[in-house]
Amino acid sequence: MQDEQQASQQKLRQLEQQLQQKEAEIYLLKEINRVISSEYKLETVFELVANHARELINAKTVTIPILSTDQASYTYQAAAGENADELTGASLPIEVGICGWVLRHRKAWWRGVLDDLNQAERNQWEAEAGSIVLVPLIGKRRFLGGIAGITKANGNEFTRQDFDILTTFAGQVSIAIENAMFFEELDTAKRSAEAFRLKLEFTNRKLSRTNEELQHLAVHDPLTSLPNRTLIADRLQQSILGARRNREPLALIMIDLDHFKEVNDTLGHTVGDKLLVNVGYRFQSTLREVDTLGRLGGDEFAVVIPQADDNGAAIIANKLQTALELPVDIDGSHFSIAASMGIAIYPDHGTTPSALLKSADIAMYASKRDHNGYSFYDPACDTRSPDRLELLRDLRAAVQNDTLEIAFQPKLDLTEKQIIGVEALARWTHPARGTVPPDVFIPILEQTGLIRTFTLQMLRKVILHCRAYHREGYQLDVAVNLSMHNLRDSKLPDQIEEILRECGFNEQYLILEITESAIMQDPEHSLMIITRLNDMGIRLSVDDFGTGYSSLGYLKRLPVQQLKIDRSFVGDMEKDRDDTTIVRSTIDLAHNLGLETVAEGVEDSATLEALTVMNCDQAQGYLISRPLFPVDFLNFLRSGEWKVKRMSSRDRSKTTDACAETATHPESMQNQ
Ligand code: C2E
Ligand code: CA
Ligand code: CA
Repeated sequence: MQDEQQASQQKLRQLEQQLQQKEAEIYLLKEINRVISSEYKLETVFELVANHARELINAKTVTIPILSTDQASYTYQAAAGENADELTGASLPIEVGICGWVLRHRKAWWRGVLDDLNQAERNQWEAEAGSIVLVPLIGKRRFLGGIAGITKANGNEFTRQDFDILTTFAGQVSIAIENAMFFEELDTAKRSAEAFRLKLEFTNRKLSRTNEELQHLAVHDPLTSLPNRTLIADRLQQSILGARRNREPLALIMIDLDHFKEVNDTLGHTVGDKLLVNVGYRFQSTLREVDTLGRLGGDEFAVVIPQADDNGAAIIANKLQTALELPVDIDGSHFSIAASMGIAIYPDHGTTPSALLKSADIAMYASKRDHNGYSFYDPACDTRSPDRLELLRDLRAAVQNDTLEIAFQPKLDLTEKQIIGVEALARWTHPARGTVPPDVFIPILEQTGLIRTFTLQMLRKVILHCRAYHREGYQLDVAVNLSMHNLRDSKLPDQIEEILRECGFNEQYLILEITESAIMQDPEHSLMIITRLNDMGIRLSVDDFGTGYSSLGYLKRLPVQQLKIDRSFVGDMEKDRDDTTIVRSTIDLAHNLGLETVAEGVEDSATLEALTVMNCDQAQGYLISRPLFPVDFLNFLRSGEWKVKRMSSRDRSKTTDACAETATHPESMQNQ
């Protein structure tokens, strides 16, 4: 009875001991789990699991094989104990080793498992079966891998108790591992999402910057960074809307630099570009913020000025002109630059951007022609107005029917005091309007391209008249005016040659007058044509000298023989000492360059006398004669009012011979 009691008491103690041990184990497991669960860093979680597992089962080594996502391999994510460093991070295919078996079968391994194996596997692992205990780690959502104990530290095999405690441990930590894995995945995903977001943001920013640049480029001039034609048209449209709403005027000024092309051609594009930038900057600094300055292209600028009427526009045009007064400094060289401006006012001169731009353009050309700095749009100068259209139609008909007439104005040689030549001037008598001045119809002929046909007609008629004068015994040169467009026409020299040949006219009597500004419109091309004409033996005369850019350096390069001093200097000589100086130095300069001089616009004998003293070669003007129609001109020659140069009999017979086939008597040509 006592034995029985003792035995049961011992049994009780044993149970109590076991219970205490279990309680201690549970406490330990809970403690470990608490630590592990509070850890989110996966690497640390694996390390903790390996280390605690090794303590729990007293193993030499513990590894944590974790299945890859494609389940084809496993990696020792952590190891504790012997060879831990070498083992950590090693990966093996799922087919290899006891680990591979466990992960494939998702079952635990300890010696007891041997009974379930086939003979081959049994043979393979019989010897080492007891030195390994391996339990699976199964998460809530997936199979994770396992915890492997390798070799019991005391040299024995792992016991059932080791297996049980490791299984419990694995059950507890698998959730913590899964969570940590999940967090890590989340973190990686978050990080790559963040990286992606940053990249996206960067790309977006880059894209919008590029877009802005593109947008800027599309509407700005790359050289000056000023708005281009597109943006100017847009601003103009906006301003028109505002002006209409508020019933206010609005001004558009179009600006064209004078002789910019010459700067560009002679000094190079780099200098030209710098000049444009500089000029753009100067214009800009005279304007208010509400005004828009733009570059339309080439040497053309435009300014949109909201709320400006005629007076306001004129004030700004004057300011813009003042901005160009000081020479522009480029790389140490000084450039004087002038500009011609055209002003159009909304709504009087146009109510749309394109109408205003056109009007300003027409005004600008008028200003260029008149050398007056700026001009307002004048409907009378506009070929688009109904009035102009009618005039254009009639002018076209006049050219087609060859009904334009000629007036001749004599040129007096100041040494011999005799008439030695004539200038032919076009005249148009409109059936309804009467006389239309050449200053009006010549620009229309130029604008419409009719000038080419007209010039050839003019030449032919003039030559026939002059030939008739020769036959009368008057040895006269004849000067014909060429326009800007003629100097761009490469066919002109051949056509003139043809006319000379057809009319049997000696080219030595022909002079072609060209204005400086016509040459400067396209100096290179003009030079080519002028050279060709000169090679043909035709003399060339620079007309209106002094009104244009007067580039003396350029003049030296031109194969010209004569310089016509503009009538604006000659006419005022008696009153204006400056003009006298200009005329005198022009004569000296021309003589130095080997050119003869003709003074235009001589209206009184005092001027004629002064010119003679200055050694001027020839004079032309109302004092000698107004331009006369052929019939009157012949009478003038015959009147003896002035001596006229006579043909030598030898020259005369030559002329008569040449004229034999197309014999024309001066009287019979009077009405042509
Ligand atoms: P331009 O070539 O300078 O012609 C001289 C102009 O001065 C002529 O005007 C003439 O009548 C005027 N004039 C002559 N003597 C005097 C004077 O003593 N005092 C004043 N105040 N004026 C004088 P016009 O005939 O009205 O011609 C004007 C312009 O028209 C010409 O200027 C010329 O540039 C152009 N033109 C005339 N005929 C032709 C032509 O057949 N072809 C071309 N391309 N242009 C022409
Ligand atoms: Ca002339
Ligand atoms: Ca002239």
